[in-house]
Amino acid sequence: MLPRYHQSIGKVELVVAGAGPSGLAVAERVSQAGYKVCVIDPSPLAAWPNNYGVWVDEFRAMGLDDCLDHVWDRAEVFLDSSPSGLKHLARPYGRVDRAKLKRKLLQRCVAHGVVFQEARVEEVVHADGSSQITCSDGTRIPGCMVLDATGHARKLVEYDKPFNPGYQGAYGILAEVESHPFPTDAMLFMDWRDEHTASNLQMQESNRKLPTFLYAMPFSKTRIFLEETSLVARPAVPFLELKQRLEARMAKYGIKIKAIEEEEYCLIPMGGVLPRLPQRTLGIGGTAGMVHPSTGYMVARMLGAAPVLADAIVEQLCAASDAAAQSHLPPGAVTESDADRLSAAVWHSIWPVERIRQRAFFSFGMDVLLSLDLTETRQFFAAFFALSDHHWQGFLSARLSFLELIGFGLSLFAKSSNEARLNLLVKGVPGLVGMLAGLTGTIGYEKRLLGKKEQIR
Ligand SMILES: Cc1cc2nc3c(=O)[nH]c(=O)nc-3n(C[C@H](O)[C@H](O)[C@H](O)COP(=O)(O)OP(=O)(O)OC[C@H]3O[C@@H](n4cnc5c(N)ncnc54)[C@H](O)[C@@H]3O)c2cc1C
Repeated sequence: MLPRYHQSIGKVELVVAGAGPSGLAVAERVSQAGYKVCVIDPSPLAAWPNNYGVWVDEFRAMGLDDCLDHVWDRAEVFLDSSPSGLKHLARPYGRVDRAKLKRKLLQRCVAHGVVFQEARVEEVVHADGSSQITCSDGTRIPGCMVLDATGHARKLVEYDKPFNPGYQGAYGILAEVESHPFPTDAMLFMDWRDEHTASNLQMQESNRKLPTFLYAMPFSKTRIFLEETSLVARPAVPFLELKQRLEARMAKYGIKIKAIEEEEYCLIPMGGVLPRLPQRTLGIGGTAGMVHPSTGYMVARMLGAAPVLADAIVEQLCAASDAAAQSHLPPGAVTESDADRLSAAVWHSIWPVERIRQRAFFSFGMDVLLSLDLTETRQFFAAFFALSDHHWQGFLSARLSFLELIGFGLSLFAKSSNEARLNLLVKGVPGLVGMLAGLTGTIGYEKRLLGKKEQIR
């Protein structure tokens, strides 16, 4: 049983919509600093549905490596079936023990006094320096700040422009099998082989144009997670097609299913415009455009961003209390314009201009990937995995600064074959134009936000 919100609690400092990894990670940290937090979710105790895979170094850096239930010492990539098509990646990969991670975050939330409301968030109204959330059960919860952590539901954050993402689509199964051909000490990061389509010309042709790869986590010789994945497409590759390709692949690899433990339908919006920056409703994770636009990964980036966002919230709540005390107002009472400035400062903590530039580069990467057929995709990844560890690992983990990303792009170009270079030049132009437009949009952005931030302090 979780402690419930009741009307006698009144106004809380932070209302969090969504008890996914990002909502709980922020709630835990803000409550630890002594502030009242209420988390609203229709099923706060339900198991998280997604099968998260992460690079072990990312989770270790956050002290979360005890929340991995299986670790592979290395990863493999098959570009094609030729002997040189197999690449070994010396970077450990893990599957997140999502039950343990959720338990850990919930326990910390409860220990720090977070209260929960079992409902859907319907709407938020900001007025007179305060915010009020209305829930599906009619409950109204007033708060100083509101965080939308509803993932890809994006329930409360607002956009000025149409949301136009690419989509990562995947169909996966966690299954008991008679046997499978993969080593159990390596996870299969990408398998672009396409011999399984040879007997079905229609599938071969559609896979050539809109290629998908196999992502697999072999837990033992007879238990494996298999997922046919479209890295990014617009519109998304339909689930039925992904399922048919996975079945054809399993037949080719001689994998016979004995029992399916879990089925996963994955559709992740990637890239697209950011929400309006700044705005009164705060965001994190899927609501704040944090999915890596070229890979679909988010959980590590978002768990890394949660403390940054939480600390910015705490800093602004402190600033608001100080300002209220100076004006002889009750604690937490702020004017409407002060509340706007508090939110702007928090948004700035997760989207400083350097991050926005980095995202523009990743979106450029996504636009290039959207345009590649199977042959070009193989050429791209042949060059990508020939890069230094600093470059390819840093790119996948969103660790490279914008300048480092330029170096990454030049190295990728240098490592590419002449044919691939020509492709990158021809197919990269629209994305490059988009990136430059995105960068132009950052002019004045930082100054505007910093100007507002200065006034709060
Ligand atoms: C199938 C799948 C597999 C994925 N695999 C990976 C992976 O391997 N690695 C990776 O890094 N990322 C992966 N992702 C990306 C993934 O979306 C994020 O990493 C992560 O789940 C985002 O966390 P979040 O807290 O922002 O949102 P979510 O995990 O989506 O949580 C949102 C929460 O908000 C709640 N909610 C929704 N609407 C409302 C409402 N109106 N009111 C109140 N609460 C609401 C939901 O109940 C949920 O609890 C995957 C995504 C999917 C869909």
